[in-house]
Amino acid sequence: MADLTSLTISEALPLLQKREISALELTEAHLARIAALDPHIGAFLTVTAEPARAAAAQADARRAAGDQRPLLGMPIALKDVLSTKGVETTCGSRILKGYRPLFDATAVARLQAAGAISLGKLNMDEFAMGSSTENSGFFPTRNPWNLQHVPGGSSGGSAAAVAAGMALATLGSDTGGSIRQPAAFCGVSALKPSYGRVSRHGLIAYGSSLDQAGPFARSVEDLAYVLQAIAGQDPLDATSSPAPVPDYRARLGAGISGLRIGLPTEYFAEGIQPQVRAAVKAAVAQMQALGADVQAVSFAHADYCLPAYYIIAMAEASANLARYDGLRFGARVDGADLIDSYKKTRGAGFGAEVKRRIMLGTYTLSAGYYDAYYGKAQAARALIREDFAAIFQQVDALVAPVAPSTAFKFGEVTGDPLRMILADELTISANLAGLCGLSLPCGFDDAGLPIGLQVLAAPFREARLLQIGAAYQAATDWHLRQPALAGGN
Ligand code: GLN
Repeated sequence: MADLTSLTISEALPLLQKREISALELTEAHLARIAALDPHIGAFLTVTAEPARAAAAQADARRAAGDQRPLLGMPIALKDVLSTKGVETTCGSRILKGYRPLFDATAVARLQAAGAISLGKLNMDEFAMGSSTENSGFFPTRNPWNLQHVPGGSSGGSAAAVAAGMALATLGSDTGGSIRQPAAFCGVSALKPSYGRVSRHGLIAYGSSLDQAGPFARSVEDLAYVLQAIAGQDPLDATSSPAPVPDYRARLGAGISGLRIGLPTEYFAEGIQPQVRAAVKAAVAQMQALGADVQAVSFAHADYCLPAYYIIAMAEASANLARYDGLRFGARVDGADLIDSYKKTRGAGFGAEVKRRIMLGTYTLSAGYYDAYYGKAQAARALIREDFAAIFQQVDALVAPVAPSTAFKFGEVTGDPLRMILADELTISANLAGLCGLSLPCGFDDAGLPIGLQVLAAPFREARLLQIGAAYQAATDWHLRQPALAGGN
């Protein structure tokens, strides 16, 4: 039998249905793989082995009783930005050490209700601020394709866990690329849903107008299974959309003949690593061969994206992170009085990048600067949204690289916050405009590191993205490649 940790959800499903394997065996195989490999990779902050075993046994009993839900008994894992009832949730920060939420995030509760089994919580950049997972308050996660390289971020643990066969699927969050970029760096498939598609209730806030949770998996079809379970309006999140949730698997076999695909000229400009550009261009040629109508489009305000994003994200972060005062959540350092306690707790609990962003965000929101920075950034955001509304009149989807380069080495970009920020230039527009975006493996560079293809569509067009992704994956096998990991199997 195939190694249980290299299956996709769609491959595991018939095996579970025919009782060739049990959910308990599937779970044990993943727990064993985590025990063998994670000491080298560092994807997990918490492994919940015993609750996972109990849930797996229960899933087997349910399946035996006729329950056919597709995710029943599938081992998954969750970025530590998602609140989990009774299970430590740190958001990658020392300030939340010991925090055990009293409730589950809605996305988590929905996955559980669909029968999925959580193996634990995944490492990330502190409060989702970063692009390499080097900003984790605990330890960095390593890229399963080459342990000297970063897995990307901020959902580095979510991407690395799937790439290394430590979970069939994971959830991450994307405020400015944090699902798509680590998926590209680790050679897995992932989806950032449209703003409002998945409830943010219990998703610890970074930039509330930008944040979305979404799935990582080994195939587009698997992403569809997970998205189906987590999407939809939630009374606990007023920004969640009432738009009906379609059947995300319905169009996976529909092909892409006649679909109009746009290539944003600005996203193929200088600064893109030549091998990344070549792989993405080859993917575009593949789509053309499948019948897509490819045309160049221009994105007039592309240059506004980085400054607008970083002003808005930091401003929202400075407000969202004000609640970590040592009184209500996590760790506390006692001081001489209340104010001293706040200062000591925040001084000790937050890392350097988080502090930098709180200060910059507070500055751009302060009286006298608000109009010049925050107000201007919001105006730029409106222009960016209009650009995309016009573009999506012309084309059904956009194709671009996910990131300008493949995974960099530890420390290579860390000391240079500006360079780290520039690496987000191809992903943040989707968050500013509320678009949905897919990240798909589309090749490797000379060093054997994966390259990611980004597909973007208008808000709530996830079904179309998945249709395009499934057609691409039916014609290619990049998504099936797996890293050779010593100590695995
Ligand atoms: N790298 C970006 C940032 O640091 C994106 C992070 C994210 O999407 N959470 O803000």
